Amino acid sequence: MKKIRHLLGISGGKDSAALAIYMKDKYPDLDIEYYTCDTGKELEETYQLIKNLEIYLGKKVTLLQAAGGSDEDPFDHFLKMYGGFLPSSNSRWCTKKLKLEPFEKFVGDDPVVSYVGIRGDEEREGYISRKSNIQSIFPFRKNIWSEDVISKVLANTNSQSVLNLFRSNPTAKNSERIEEVLQQPLTPNFPQQQKLNLLLDLGIKEFNELVFLFLKTTNYPLAKEESFPLTNNEDLLIRDDIFRILKESGVGVPEYYNKVDFTVNGKSGQYSRSRSGCFFCFFQQKIEWVWLYEQHPEKFAKAMEYEKDGYTWCQDETLADIIKPERMQGIKEDFIKRQAKAGVTKKDWKDIILEEAEAEGCAACFI
Ligand code: SF4
Repeated sequence: MKKIRHLLGISGGKDSAALAIYMKDKYPDLDIEYYTCDTGKELEETYQLIKNLEIYLGKKVTLLQAAGGSDEDPFDHFLKMYGGFLPSSNSRWCTKKLKLEPFEKFVGDDPVVSYVGIRGDEEREGYISRKSNIQSIFPFRKNIWSEDVISKVLANTNSQSVLNLFRSNPTAKNSERIEEVLQQPLTPNFPQQQKLNLLLDLGIKEFNELVFLFLKTTNYPLAKEESFPLTNNEDLLIRDDIFRILKESGVGVPEYYNKVDFTVNGKSGQYSRSRSGCFFCFFQQKIEWVWLYEQHPEKFAKAMEYEKDGYTWCQDETLADIIKPERMQGIKEDFIKRQAKAGVTKKDWKDIILEEAEAEGCAACFI
């Protein structure tokens, strides 16, 4: 029987870096392999973060690069293959070719548990592999399991067998109430999320142990394990915890998250970049393009070079348009106005830009 592998992808952003630190500190006995999918187009700060992490973890972060034999950066190699067609939110060949495919190749047919840094204060579900040998776990959330696992555990068709499994574990506290909830069928008035929340409120460990017992009746990778230490995990980590972990460990917060002051027509604001990933990522907001132009002009110039033959990074305007003085001024003023409208104080600005960006961000880039 193949040994299960524990993998953790480092995106270059704050959450996956904090997760790597958290897992090393809290579960030192798990032999975790760290990897990163390199597009060749990250900011220097990202590569620095990975170096800092390697020191803290005492392990190499394996660099996965698509188009291994090519003498070009992975992104440039595939851009040529796509005839200069720039990726966009509707056509994300970059995520597929530069992140998902190298990851799936790295995994092969091995049974894998993949740890994902989605926080307890985020709504998104994150990447769930189509491959049955890869199982995602979310240690920062109250519910550490992926949606596909939860929907099976709570399915009406499985309720009797799940109840029997629960009854086979006599140590559970709140047993009577948990049994009642387990027997309550899902209906439009009692949806899956409500049932899940009730069960988690009655006991996170109890619920996790039940899910683990259920997994042992399936072909999921964790079915092969005798025990799984994260069934005891009751932590819930939010954004502030992430910054704290990065600072306290000495790994540090990537430089691009730091707010930079700007003024426009006598008004002052602050901007930063909200994401790791390619410096030209089409998911970035207009204010982040302005940040790139002003803070990393050489990278902005490179991003501009890609815009040719009618292909642009933003749907509605070119980068040359964005940096026209009146346009940049407008973007900055809009940004300040949006924040004022949301009633934000100066202290919260970074959080607002982060929230907006994450809501629409390249989630699948953070496997
Ligand atoms: S960071 Fe953006 S541009 Fe780079 S691979 Fe991900 S989605 Fe594509």
